[in-house]
Amino acid sequence: MVTIARPIARWFVQARYPSGTRLLPILMYHRVLKEPDPLQPAVPDVRQMAEQFRALAGAFRVLRLHEAAEMLRAGRLPAGAACITFDDGYRDNHDLALPLLREFKLPATIFVTTGFLNGGCMFNDTVVETVRRLASGAIDLSEVGLGQRMITDIASRRALVNDLTRAVKYLEPGHRHEFCADLCRRSGSRLPNDLMMDDHQVRSLSDSGWVDIGGHTVSHPILAKIDEEQARREIIDNRDRIEELTGRKSLCFAYPNGKPDLDYTALHAKIVREAGFLSAVSTAVGVATDQADPFQLPRFMPRERSAAQFVARMMRMATHRHPQFAR
Ligand SMILES: [Zn+2]
Repeated sequence: MVTIARPIARWFVQARYPSGTRLLPILMYHRVLKEPDPLQPAVPDVRQMAEQFRALAGAFRVLRLHEAAEMLRAGRLPAGAACITFDDGYRDNHDLALPLLREFKLPATIFVTTGFLNGGCMFNDTVVETVRRLASGAIDLSEVGLGQRMITDIASRRALVNDLTRAVKYLEPGHRHEFCADLCRRSGSRLPNDLMMDDHQVRSLSDSGWVDIGGHTVSHPILAKIDEEQARREIIDNRDRIEELTGRKSLCFAYPNGKPDLDYTALHAKIVREAGFLSAVSTAVGVATDQADPFQLPRFMPRERSAAQFVARMMRMATHRHPQFAR
């Protein structure tokens, strides 16, 4: 955004999200890449994120999530309020996002899956990194209902990443792990062990003053697919590990995968509240309103390349006020 456009953008934003607004846009990121990745076109690279952060710093008032959630409830949000969140605990959050947060003076919450810290690889990344390394030619994926697939070019690999991710996401965790390990063996290569943060990086984010570390379970299960006791352990053990790592209480939580009723239920929202968290976020798409359950705040993923498109999206989101909730 050129300098002269910034006051105009701020004027539009503050007209749409005035002081005392009952609307809170919460942004959801996962990774940020050094360079664009043709296998993950929806993942922003560092230039795209800088563009979005510059727009946020110029036209919005980015707040810490638990404070914004409380202000939303009380009808005390400042004009142009917004929040930034990252899910899972990727190392690039430390290496690439933190310098941007510092540069633009933006606070964020990073939800960390503690079981994958220090060298782990989440199933979705196992799929991406394995498909990247598979030799060209035919591959039999009938075990997960995808039949015989041909790998020829980048487009066929990208399509395979999407189809495989969808096909294995809801498999029983043991089966999913076995399938992914076998796929990886078939590629004949090793998975990267530096995608997620280590303990030291989590601590340094927390100590930076710009990042709150939020809960995201130990092993990223679909909570609705495991029993209540297991779900409670996933939430509490993750909370305790974060507190041990950072020396600070974890205040906010994000449900893995996050779709209301499909991935978590009202029972999990209750467990999260009883565990002492102050608020929680889902992946239901929308802008949070004062009518929202503070333990099921909706979010959305910004995919815009330019600051102007990004601001336009933020404006449009003000009309998405009826996201789904688990009841
Ligand atoms: Zn996640």
